[in-house]
Amino acid sequence: MKISGTHVYYYFVCKRKLWCFSKAIRMEHLDENVQLGKLLDESSYNRDSGQVMIDETVNIDFIRDWKILHEVKKSRAIEEAGIWQLKYYIYFLRKKGIAIENGVIDYPKLRRREEVELTDEDEQTLEAVLKDIEAICVQDKPPKVIEKPICKKCAYFEYCYI
Ligand code: SF4
Repeated sequence: MKISGTHVYYYFVCKRKLWCFSKAIRMEHLDENVQLGKLLDESSYNRDSGQVMIDETVNIDFIRDWKILHEVKKSRAIEEAGIWQLKYYIYFLRKKGIAIENGVIDYPKLRRREEVELTDEDEQTLEAVLKDIEAICVQDKPPKVIEKPICKKCAYFEYCYI
């Protein structure tokens, strides 16, 4: 299966969310948090090269000089997931022979940025994560709800709890 950055992001946010996404249960268009993210993507950084889709798998916000990957996020609420998503992009492109040096997560609303590196240890972790993602996506039933505060802001809240 083709694993996108969204798969990796959702894996770290909630495995049930990952499963819903993999089954094409789409509710994000109803979610204003997702819409705000899209608006930021479209407006804040369009002076650079714009989004780049590679191999119909990873969708990178922009690449500077084919060395530094940039990902735009609206908040640091689920920071770990965003960091792993960007590590996956670095991993994916390096596997394609592109010598990406590192990544940067931009938070335009917070006027902050964070550098992200991919270490050898991260690569091993990612390889295990990718296998786990595949295993979750082929399950017939969704993983359990996580009952965390982020559920209230999740596009799948109604699907999970109502
Ligand atoms: S509502 Fe909670 S349990 Fe359901 S998909 Fe979203 S984050 Fe996961």
